[in-house]
Amino acid sequence: MTNANLTARKNEAISRGVGMATQIYAQKAENSEIWDVEGRRYIDFAAGIAVVNTGHRHPRIIEAVKAQLDSFTHTCHQVVPYENYVALAERLNRAVPGDFPKKTIFATTGAEAVENAVKIARAATGRSAVIAFTGGFHGRTFMGMALTGKVAPYKVGFGQMVGDVFHVPFPVELHGMTLDHFHRILEKLFSSDVDPGRVAAIIIEPVQGEGGFYEAPQPLMRALRQICDSHGILLIADEVQTGFARTGKLFAMAHYDVAADLTTMAKGLAGGFPLSAVTGRADIMDAPGPGGLGGTYAGNPIGVAAAHAVLDIIEDEGLCDRANRLGARLKQRLDSLRAGVPQIADIRGLGYMVAVEFNAPNSSLPNPAFTNAVKAKALEKGLILLTCGVYSNVIRFLSPITIQDAVFEEALDIVEASIRGCAEDAK
Ligand code: PMP
Repeated sequence: MTNANLTARKNEAISRGVGMATQIYAQKAENSEIWDVEGRRYIDFAAGIAVVNTGHRHPRIIEAVKAQLDSFTHTCHQVVPYENYVALAERLNRAVPGDFPKKTIFATTGAEAVENAVKIARAATGRSAVIAFTGGFHGRTFMGMALTGKVAPYKVGFGQMVGDVFHVPFPVELHGMTLDHFHRILEKLFSSDVDPGRVAAIIIEPVQGEGGFYEAPQPLMRALRQICDSHGILLIADEVQTGFARTGKLFAMAHYDVAADLTTMAKGLAGGFPLSAVTGRADIMDAPGPGGLGGTYAGNPIGVAAAHAVLDIIEDEGLCDRANRLGARLKQRLDSLRAGVPQIADIRGLGYMVAVEFNAPNSSLPNPAFTNAVKAKALEKGLILLTCGVYSNVIRFLSPITIQDAVFEEALDIVEASIRGCAEDAK
């Protein structure tokens, strides 16, 4: 079996609509390393897109899943419920930021968590409109796609979007979009497009993930809380990518001094098993009637068992602190490249949610070609990197937080050699 052979089979058998970041087929994975079918080893700085924050096959997750496999694998919580679902809800109710009574539901994917959060917000407010941000990403279902603030490739060819969704600019000073612009455009939206009294929710990623790893400024989050409170709108924090220690806290919203009414989570929650959740104010979460929420696999016992292990590992191994240390070291190494690489436009990151943005040398024009070249060079050297950003000119670094020190340093050397090499090639 070779990667080339499997790629040929894939091209015959699978829709091209499923995009691929690499053409290497996984054989085995352990903590921060993946071996492909040809026996080549890679360092994984994608972590299944911010999923295995606790590493591939963490022994405690494997142990928890095996124990669950030995008792039962599926009964459907809506038919025959189970204790670990209830216990995980209790844990999330305590852990999600917000000093108020909370309730939780489970689903399977991030997009489904977003869909449910909007359904709950609509049921609780009796309103239908939703405001989202340019550059935001909320999933590939119909509502997720409508909320997503990037057209290509997510909305192209998929027809009419779900109605009553409005976008306002996410303030990114680097791109000339200030907080003041945001306020002026929101005001215009309320005066020309939608009565704020008809808005059910505003949804925001505290740090945009797919959109480019831009952190929501503290004053923006405060302003959103205030706007929501004065118009009876609910604030939804989409923590699908920011969650579970990535930003140096269990949830990114813990960096802010205001709380969301509803929080969506998935990805890192179950360390590689499909599980998502919505946690929010108890009264709001109770708005939909019995049977209005749920799903056959929603809160599958194996995912739930894995999630308990994930939360234990984050706490016992001090992964929030470790995320801060890794992030600081990575940013320091990237900073040391600035002088020789005029394509570096910005280095940023909250905790270990770190990114580097590339422009044409000494200009403000995005440089996706350089970004892709860095990604390709790193892959040649055995490091899996992912890009992101509305202009596809950002490299995001998403290794497991459990990455071994020596492997981390090895990866940093590859990052440095790849960026320097591409800068040399571009001369
Ligand atoms: N919200 C955010 C912030 C995400 O990053 C993603 C996935 N990249 C989603 C929602 C959708 O999650 P899923 O792919 O599990 O449906």
